[in-house]
Amino acid sequence: MKITIIGTGYVGLVTGACLAELGNDVFCLDLDASKVELLNQGGIPIHEPGLIEIVARNRASGRLHFSTDIAASVAHGDVQFIAVGTPPDEDGSADLQYVLAAAKNIGKYMTGFKVVVDKSTVPVGTADRVQAAIRGELDARGAEHAFSVVSNPEFLKEGAAVEDFMRPDRIVIGCDDSASGQRARAAMKLLYTPFNRNHERTFWMDVRSAEFTKYAANAMLATRISFMNELANLADRVGADIEAVRHGIGSDPRIGHSFLYAGCGYGGSCFPKDVQALERTAQDHGQNLLILEAVEAVNNRQKHVLGKKVCDRFGQDLTGKHFAIWGLAFKPNTDDMREASSRVLVAELVGRGASVALYDPVAMDEAKRVLALDIADAAALERVRFAQSPMDALNGAEAVVIVTEWKAFRSPDLAKMKQLLKTPVIFDGRNLFEPGTMADNGFEYHGIGRSVLTRT
Ligand code: NAD
Repeated sequence: MKITIIGTGYVGLVTGACLAELGNDVFCLDLDASKVELLNQGGIPIHEPGLIEIVARNRASGRLHFSTDIAASVAHGDVQFIAVGTPPDEDGSADLQYVLAAAKNIGKYMTGFKVVVDKSTVPVGTADRVQAAIRGELDARGAEHAFSVVSNPEFLKEGAAVEDFMRPDRIVIGCDDSASGQRARAAMKLLYTPFNRNHERTFWMDVRSAEFTKYAANAMLATRISFMNELANLADRVGADIEAVRHGIGSDPRIGHSFLYAGCGYGGSCFPKDVQALERTAQDHGQNLLILEAVEAVNNRQKHVLGKKVCDRFGQDLTGKHFAIWGLAFKPNTDDMREASSRVLVAELVGRGASVALYDPVAMDEAKRVLALDIADAAALERVRFAQSPMDALNGAEAVVIVTEWKAFRSPDLAKMKQLLKTPVIFDGRNLFEPGTMADNGFEYHGIGRSVLTRT
């Protein structure tokens, strides 16, 4: 099928590349000319396992194109996916300016039937606004073309995006019952047929329910994280081990083991903004989502938990003290630093006078860019060093603080770590290690929701 993807970011690029891999003829539009140029030169703007190979293969086969040409993009695809960003507006609601701009472009240039798919995460009712934006442009030029707006939210996870897209748990598609809606449904059914070969994964529903499903899923996941983080902080106080508690409750099939990890807060481009946007939607409809307000507040507080633990141990004034930080990306296998907990920690430590040595397997360049924006004080920024390796970061540090659970940090050379650190102290924001093992190896270990344990 002929597909256009509008917006070539995490979601758009993965969607476009994977649909091309299945034999579709895909045209990816982005307004960011430098991004398009990089892609056309064989580069890739994001780190995502497996993606570079798929992009290269499908570019070579002529099934995947990148361009900034809006008119050509509208002409190309019978199905037009809108996969642009929906960042939070000042009041927390989703900023729909990019979605609506994409919709207007479709209305401006379309010359025949189009299926317009909202792939971006957009609040309930957005399909109506997309429809009105397209209709407005058609009316302005006196054109009469049928189209249908479909909701098909994306559930891929950064770091496993290709795998998630190719083997989705579920495909949610919301269509309306009009003749155009039925036509759109048939096109979407055909497009997603390869994903349903093993078993049917598509959930067909009305458009508003599909829009809502995406927010409900992210809100539930964020809730589980904040729930466990709040209990972990209590476990710290009462001397319980949140990891034991996690196993104890996760074995109940009604609860399950997934997404019950305590840590130093969730980040990324989705959970924080989607929780806020759902709260905002509720307020607009005269309802307060009390649970989600708490989820957000708990998460904002949790991003300070490592800084607080460091201060409890080394004092409020960290002048002259040096710390190593392992992991900067908001989660492993990505270079995405949006809303990453590491940003809060680094700003807090250097703000208190400390110097830091940072290491992340892939997010170093992105970290350099965002930390330069975060840390306004030039002297504080001077105290940030980017290390060559995890071990390089440890040299002369009072402690290492682990923020992202990269696999490469899971089985480090403990003897070497001890040798390099000034004092053998570990703050483990992702509970990678067993407190007993760390103590047996002579470390003072501070996990999240695990009692502090030192053995001599
Ligand atoms: P992103 O910021 O990485 O990419 C968006 C891209 O759209 C940018 O390259 C931008 O230049 C381009 N763009 C903006 N306006 C445009 C226009 N009018 N025409 C063409 N291109 C335009 O965003 P993302 O992370 O891919 O997220 C996109 C949407 O998908 C968001 O709504 C997000 O919430 C949702 N989503 C993201 C993820 C994720 O893990 N990143 C997962 C599921 C859903």
